[in-house]
Parts: sequence; structure tokens; C-alpha cells
Amino acid sequence: MNKGSIYLVGAGPGDPGLITVRGMDLVSRADVVVYDYLVSPRLVRCARDDAELIYVGKKAGKHTLSQDGINKLLVDKARTGAMVVRLKGGDPFVFGRGGEEALEAVEAGIAFEVVPGITAGVAAAAYAGIPVTHRTIASNLGLVTGHETPDKTDSDLDFEALAKWRGTLVFYMGVSNVEPICQSLTAHGLDGQTPAALVRWGTTSRQRTVVGTVDTLPAVARDSGIEPPAVIIVGGVVALREKLNWFERRPLFGRRIVVTRARTQASTLTGRLEDFGADVFEMPAIQIVPPDDDQPLRDAIDNLASFDWIVFTSANGVEGFFDALDQADLDSRALGATRICTVGPVTAERLAGRGLRPDAQPAKFVSTEIAATLAAAGDLAGQNILCPRSDLAPRDLIDALTAQGATVQDVTAYCTRPDCAGAEQVLELLADDEVHWVTFTSSSTVKNFFDAVDPAKVRAASVRLASIGPVTTQTLTDAGFTPDAQAKTHTIDGLVDAIVDCEGAEGSAS
Ligand code: SAH
Repeated sequence: MNKGSIYLVGAGPGDPGLITVRGMDLVSRADVVVYDYLVSPRLVRCARDDAELIYVGKKAGKHTLSQDGINKLLVDKARTGAMVVRLKGGDPFVFGRGGEEALEAVEAGIAFEVVPGITAGVAAAAYAGIPVTHRTIASNLGLVTGHETPDKTDSDLDFEALAKWRGTLVFYMGVSNVEPICQSLTAHGLDGQTPAALVRWGTTSRQRTVVGTVDTLPAVARDSGIEPPAVIIVGGVVALREKLNWFERRPLFGRRIVVTRARTQASTLTGRLEDFGADVFEMPAIQIVPPDDDQPLRDAIDNLASFDWIVFTSANGVEGFFDALDQADLDSRALGATRICTVGPVTAERLAGRGLRPDAQPAKFVSTEIAATLAAAGDLAGQNILCPRSDLAPRDLIDALTAQGATVQDVTAYCTRPDCAGAEQVLELLADDEVHWVTFTSSSTVKNFFDAVDPAKVRAASVRLASIGPVTTQTLTDAGFTPDAQAKTHTIDGLVDAIVDCEGAEGSAS
């Protein structure tokens, strides 16, 4: 089964990481992806570049396509021989109308598969610190539609039975019916003191939870202004949240952070920030490309034996240098007795990938310290030093080495270019005051970010800036900004710690 079939895939509750492995595999292979309002855009972006993406969710409260229209669309697309993935929020068979779509496939004689997903009722509860079952508190779990108002004459819901349930009840699609639902439960005998919660956008950085009792939840919900999508959770298990609320207590929970890095490097920083609960928007501010003119680098490689030292200040510098070495039909043996200095652990790690260890590693990643570290390994007077770097690297390192009496060859091993993709979205988020932090991991990210995003718009927004170290900070200062946090150790982890410390200091002050 593959071409000409329909896959009903559960996308999970919101966090894109909560899709199944099977679901992800199908999304990445599909010819057509038909998706809903509740599906994370990040999952949709995992489809092939040439896949047809069709949004059938809500637009300003209305569905773009009726259920009949969706059924027909799925069948028509499958009949053309396409592999159709119908990506649905949560689980396709839990209030997802997936059953209707599957029946339609059967009717049309089209093969289909169902890939279950984590349903919102269970996942939003878990992320709010509420286990839906718990020994001695809840031995059963009911998933209930909150869409049918209890006073509806043709309602299938038996509130008398629900009031006697004695376990956990999770109502879906019930935000506008919190009051009639709670009232009907107590009218049929449920204790009004039973704990109850409302969880909106569960498992995402927009998650919001309010808690009360069945008696108070209608007022609490009204005062909080919570809108769909949200689930109502009723039962003694809600009280466990007081101790188990793990997700919303993360230090960067609810913070949106724009990460400005080269596309190929963003993921480590993004992953670390997400571990702390942040909502990360990756803006690839720079692209790494080979030098426009690689002659100086090629000349340096032809004369490698003449250098006493090579100083690598970035992982990209290592890559650029070894690519050029490779193009010259050479390998690391060409370095012979030349000593190597690496600046920063990531640079050293990249060098280790080439089977080489550095002879020197400065403790601090500032120019004077680098020069001092080299000088400590032997007098630099008359020494030849090669620095394969970015076309935008500041001159201060070269000056510091020259001041020690060395002759320095500063060659471009790679170029950084602005990458404007995403800048527009950042501008929109800034205008809505929806960005809390922007991170800068090099001078070039500062330069390229402000090339793409108008500094005045950044100044107008109440956004904070985080810098990886003094050189990047200086570039920010030159651009008229003072960073709100600067990493103590000038690494990705150091940068993340600086943001967490800043938020923590504020949290304890307030
Ligand atoms: N098939 C989906 C449910 C679709 S019905 C599933 O299994 O989860 C839509 C309802 O699901 C919403 O009205 C809301 O009650 C609930 N829902 C979906 N995503 C949610 C989320 N991230 N947080 C809270 N409730 C959510």
C-alpha cells in the first residue's frame, strides 16, 4: 500500500515532537498532505518540497471546507494515484471525524491506514501535571464531547451517568459550554467541590491552565478569558497538579526566542532553549558559503609548511580550510609540524572530527587571550601564523598577534551572507510584542539580523537581546544596542545559561 491510498495520521496534541515515528515517516513521503487548524506548522514543513499542502482547517471561525468537501478531496486525490496523508490534530479517531473519512475511503474502494496519535485530553492533562488515572483517585477515564449542550434535546450525553462516573472526565470542544456542563454535573449529584481545570493549547509554549472546582470553574474560565482549543478536566486527579506541574514551571516556559544563526548551526541552540521550555523561532540570518575569491586560501595551502601556527576561530573556519585542503588533493598530513590553536570547544570538536588535536586552546575566547596563549607556548617574534576565518571577522585578533611580533596571514576560508528568509515573520512577531529574546552568537549574526530587520522596529518592541560574548556585544553596541544578557562562558550553553539566569533573577525579584 502506498500510491493511491489515504493515511489518516494523528499529528499529536500540538508539540510537533509528539507525533509518532510512523506518522512522521508518512508525512515526509506524502505526495499530498491535507491538514487541520490544530496541526503544528512545523510538522507540515516536514513534507517534501514538492508535496501538495492543502489546509482544510478553520479560517476566522469557519471551516475552509465542509466535511463532505474534505471527504471528496481525499478520495479525488487518492484516485489520481497520489499518496495522501490526512494529518489531524491529536488522534484521528477521537472526535476527529476520522471515522467518517475512513468510511468514505471504504465506500470508494480506496486503501487506507490509520496512524493513532496522542489525544489532546491525555496529553494536555499530562503537560498540566494531571495524570488522567491515578491509584486510589481515578480508576476510569471518560473522553466526552463538550460540544453538545446538556439542554440540547437530541444530546447523546447522559449527564446522570457522567455525574456518577467517579473517575476522570475530559471534555473536548467545551470552552463555550463550561457553565452548562458544570451545572449539569452538580445538578445530577456530582460534588461541586470536585477539582476541575481548563487547559488551553496543551503541550505547546502557549499552554495556559486555570484550576478551580466544578462549582467555581465557570467563573474562573470566564475571568481568564480562555478561548478554544481547550479541554475541561474534571476529577480528583486535578489536585495532583499542585505537585506535578512540571512543564509550566520550566525556566523559559512561555518565552518566545528568536534564534539568529546560520541554517546549518541553529539546531543545538534551539534544542537547548526548548529543553528549558522556550518557544523558539529560528531565523536563519546568515548563510555560510565558500569564499568569492579562494586564491589566498589556496596560496596558503600551497605554502603550508611555512606556517608555524594555524589559528581556527570557528567550526566553519575548520570546514572551509579542510575543504580547500581536500580540493588541493591533500589531507591532514600536509599540516606536518605546524601547530594548531582552536578557539572554543565546538571548533576543537570539529578539528577532532579530522583526527587532530589542538596544541593550544585559550581559556577565554578574546583576542588578547588567544595571543597570550600562543605566546605562552613559545616566543611569537618572527613566527608565521595562518588564520583561516570568515570574510567579516574583526581585525583585533590579527592586531593582537602582530603586536607579539608574528607575521599573520588572514585568509577568508568562508563567507557569511544575509539570509532574509523569516525576517518578515520576525517583524510581524515584533510588531505584536510576541518576541521576548533575540540571541546573537557572532558579530555576523548581529550584522545580518539588522540588515534584514529594521533596528527601529527592534527598539520599539519590548524585546531583550542576548550575546554570546564581548566581541558580539561590541558589535551590538556599535549598532546602538546594549545586550540584556551576555554569556559568561562564550558557548551555546553559556548563552542559554545567561538567558535563564536573567529570567530567574527577574522571577525572584517580582
Ligand atoms: N482529534 C483530536 C480532537 C479534535 S476535537 C484529539 O484527539 O486530540 C478539537 C478539540 O480538541 C478542541 O476543541 C479541544 O477541546 C481539544 N484540543 C485539541 N488540541 C488541544 C490542545 N493542544 N490543548 C487543549 N485542547 C486541545
